[in-house]
Amino acid sequence: MEFRYLGDSGLKISEITYGNWLTHGSQIENDAATACVRAALDAGITTFDTADVYANGAAETVLGEALKGERRASLEILTKVYWPTGPKGHNDCGLSRKHIMESIDASLSRLQTDYVDVYQAHRYDTETPLEETMQAFADVVRAGKAHYIGVSEWTAEQLRAGHALATDLGIKLISSQPQYSMLWRVIEEQVVPASAELGVSQIVFSPIAQGVLTGKYKPGAELPAGSRATDEKGGANMIRRFLNDETLSRVQQLEPIAADLGLSMAQLGVAWVLQNDNVAAAIIGASRPEQVAENVKASGVTLELDVMKRIDEALGDI
Ligand code: NDP
Repeated sequence: MEFRYLGDSGLKISEITYGNWLTHGSQIENDAATACVRAALDAGITTFDTADVYANGAAETVLGEALKGERRASLEILTKVYWPTGPKGHNDCGLSRKHIMESIDASLSRLQTDYVDVYQAHRYDTETPLEETMQAFADVVRAGKAHYIGVSEWTAEQLRAGHALATDLGIKLISSQPQYSMLWRVIEEQVVPASAELGVSQIVFSPIAQGVLTGKYKPGAELPAGSRATDEKGGANMIRRFLNDETLSRVQQLEPIAADLGLSMAQLGVAWVLQNDNVAAAIIGASRPEQVAENVKASGVTLELDVMKRIDEALGDI
């Protein structure tokens, strides 16, 4: 496993990070979740990403249990705040001081840890003054409950404003967590250049487009049994944007490229996001430990320029 610095901080994270959205506390049983975490640790993953809203807090609880007994200093644990976890009262959403202060304590308790390494704003809150949000984050850091601050799916402009306030408050906003894959390249235009300038890294989610880039979803074919696209608890909904014949046919054209390199399609997908210098880590999800063992082998893979060009040509404008 290779490690990369997160933004301009001294914190190193494993370039392949394990995330538990839709799986822990939901799609898969707790034993399978523990087996995936074990496979991640065995493969050298030290960085784990979760959020309070995943499975209404259960994902944090399952991860906390699975990591129990591990040396805390050898792990980087990241969680997020924004959406309601459990009761949906009028103050249970967003980035108000009240919601942040209550949420961090609840997350730490579920994760069975005294601090998270990075506490992330899961989305931007257009209704709370950004000054209030950043002051609350600064107080969380000063209380020793988080070491660094990150954001998720903020625009370049929001990132600049948040970063400036964090710097004034003496805390470090070092990461941005957007969706990024061969099929979803939105951040390349504005977020990546702004981040590079600010000393912020991307920790990207859904690097294999929720499984679509494995090539297991075939155009015109039935959905594979047991896959995320068939999971009515939540996954099916989010993956749908990729499940059309045009996209799936293009994805099939990546197969000879992966084969020529001796990589699986999943490994090619994960390796592709890691070629971007501003990406510190690809957050992979898994419904079984074998997927972790396979995908983690993308660490350290270099894709030469001619390969990157072949990929662009195969995918065209999608
Ligand atoms: P991926 O793109 O890695 O998709 C993971 C899913 O793809 C697995 O659960 C599995 O689903 C399938 N899969 C993985 N490997 C293989 C393989 N080798 N062969 C076949 N199928 C495979 O990432 P996720 O979409 O899961 O996102 C990863 C993490 O990113 C999340 O856990 C979370 O931490 C973070 N995230 C953050 C968001 C945010 O708003 N900040 C939003 C979304 C995610 P199956 O077997 O069920 O088909």
